[in-house]
Amino acid sequence: MALRNIRINDDPMLRKKCREIPAVDDRIKELAQDMLETMYDADGVGLAAPQVGILKRLVVIDVGDGPIVMINPVILETEGSQTGREGCLSVPGKAGIVTRPMRVKAKAYDLDMKEFEVEGEELLARAICHELAHLDGDLYIDHVEGRLMDVTEEEDEE
Ligand code: ZN
Repeated sequence: MALRNIRINDDPMLRKKCREIPAVDDRIKELAQDMLETMYDADGVGLAAPQVGILKRLVVIDVGDGPIVMINPVILETEGSQTGREGCLSVPGKAGIVTRPMRVKAKAYDLDMKEFEVEGEELLARAICHELAHLDGDLYIDHVEGRLMDVTEEEDEE
């Protein structure tokens, strides 16, 4: 395993649309492990492949309940809404208020290419929406209500 370099701010990789992963090989497995390690090292709760410069539809999430690896993820249903603070490892030192669904149901493939579903509320719902948006070059800073705020480094970022 190895830490990957997180792309930040105006890096063009963050604005590209990612490609589906047709099959899981050793490189994809290594990428997923590296992304988890990189996310934990940076104290994040989610990381998408384009954030480490790989234009593939893969995200990792851990909101404190253990790691979730999602390959080719798709949101199936959303319900309600929540308005709260959000940050991103690719936009260091900033946070903003974003409205997201309160509950999200998504499907994805795991590292054995088995399909599974995730249902999340609150932070997990927010993280799923945030990370999946990365796969289409969509950053939360495009959806901030009011101003992007400066934050100190000790605070959590997604
Ligand atoms: Zn992000």
